This record gives sequence, structure tokens and C-alpha cells, in this order.
Amino acid sequence: MPLIDPVLLKERLAALAGRFDVDALDSCDSTSSELLRRAAQGTPPGTVIVADTQLAGRGRRGRSWLSAAGDSLTFSLLWRLPPGRIPGGLSLAVGVALAKALNHLGATGIRLKWPNDILLAEADGFAKLAGILVELASDRRGTQACIGIGLNLRAPAGELPQQVAGLDQALAIVPDRHVVLAGILTALAEVLDQFATHGFTAVKADWLSWHAWQDRPVQLLADGEPAQSGICRGVDDDGALLLETSAGLARILAGDLSLRAA
Ligand code: ATP
Repeated sequence: MPLIDPVLLKERLAALAGRFDVDALDSCDSTSSELLRRAAQGTPPGTVIVADTQLAGRGRRGRSWLSAAGDSLTFSLLWRLPPGRIPGGLSLAVGVALAKALNHLGATGIRLKWPNDILLAEADGFAKLAGILVELASDRRGTQACIGIGLNLRAPAGELPQQVAGLDQALAIVPDRHVVLAGILTALAEVLDQFATHGFTAVKADWLSWHAWQDRPVQLLADGEPAQSGICRGVDDDGALLLETSAGLARILAGDLSLRAA
């Protein structure tokens, strides 16, 4: 039996329960891969797939996302983009929802990193607490976003190139996973409604308030290209990164880029 019981989750979601249709699985390849397959078959927006174990959890650019049953919360939500709303900034808006939800649970030290990471402030820098992967699926009715979230309840074991953290480092007691998931879905409903109406501008100030590296020196890494250095000046109304370089202010659209502290 999966660790998430949809009936218990519905109780936690209270008035919002009708907006989500949650399917809990023991395991799958990746909750986003499973959800995208179901989207192609016509599964409605609001569908959530949560899995205890991901056999092939995915990050950006074909990278893998590590998780272990019991130590992670991995799920994906299908959400319909309103007509005409460009998806720019969507993964940043999702980051705001995650930060709000974790903060609401009492977590301290939560920060956001452009474009898609949730970090935890530690004595010697920042450690990655959660990742977000937004993928788009278009059909004849418009565009849907598959929003994948992997949150470490406890830091994963294994060698990773960056520092990693678990929610247990940000909270004295990690609440029951139903409470955590319901809190995140509740915050997502609120933030995605704002995004639908006003786009990323609706949550830009919130994003900046959680930003890990505002006005700090950073390096932007792109595969096969020299690193770009500059001062991180936050993001614009579309969620593009603003990097002050010796050549002026560069506007960087989310792409195959990785941001690091310089
Ligand atoms: P960055 O922008 O920092 O280069 P990314 O956004 O491209 O990272 P993601 O796609 O979010 O990376 O996540 C995949 C990467 O995250 C992996 O390459 C690995 O380094 C790291 N990672 C994998 N699993 C976990 C985990 N459970 N917790 C923290 N980090 C992880």
C-alpha cells in the first residue's frame, strides 16, 4: 500500500479537495513521465501522481533525481495554462508556492535559486532541498503544464555534485507526509491561480524575497561554453534572470543553464 492515502490527503485538502484528483503509486519510472502519458490519454488537469519510489526520476537535461521511499516526496501535477498565458516564469512561480508551503510548516532557511531549485541555507552555503521540473504538453484544447516536484524529507544518500539537504534539517519535527503534500498543493492552487490571472508579475516580489543570491556574484554555466560571471540582479516580470556583467545588464531566459555562487 502506498505511503500516501488519497482519502487522508483529501481530508487535509478540505475545501480544495475537489481541485485535485490524486493517484498514489508504490512505484513508477517517474511521476512526470507517468503523468505525461496519462495527459496524452486525456487525463484532466488537477490530476496528481505521487509515487513512493521513482525508478528513473528525472531532472532537467536528462539528469536524474534521486529519491528513496520514505525519505522523499515525489509527485507531479497536471495544470492547464490559461489561453494566451505564456509559461515563462512558471517554474519560478512553482518555487514560490513550495517556499510558501514549507515556510508555513515552520521551515526556516528556505531560499530559491533561479530557475528551478529550492535551497536550504546552511552555515557554509546553500544545499539543495527540492527540485522542480516543468514540462509542457500540448493538445487540441491548449497547453498543459506537467509540474514535477521532488522534495527531500531526509537528504539522499550517495555522491552528488552539490550539497543536498532534507526537510528534517529545516524543521524540528517533519510533519506527516499527508500534511506536507496537502500544504504544497494548497499553496500551488493559490499561486497558480495568481499566475493564471497576472502571470509571473503576481509573485515576482515573493520570489525576490526568497532569492538566495540577490546582488551577489554568481557564475552562469552552459554546457561547452565559458562561464559567464556577474552580479545577480534578480529576475524581470517574465522570470528571466538579470545578470549584471561588464558588458551591461543581460537578460537570461531559462534554458540549459546552471547558476552557481561565484
Ligand atoms: P542546477 O541548475 O543546479 O545545475 P538543475 O536544475 O539542472 O541543477 P535539476 O534538474 O533540478 O538540476 O536536478 C538534477 C540534479 O540535482 C542532479 O544532476 C543532481 O546533481 C541533483 N540531485 C539529484 N537528486 C537530488 C536530490 N534528491 N536532492 C538534491 N539534489 C539532487
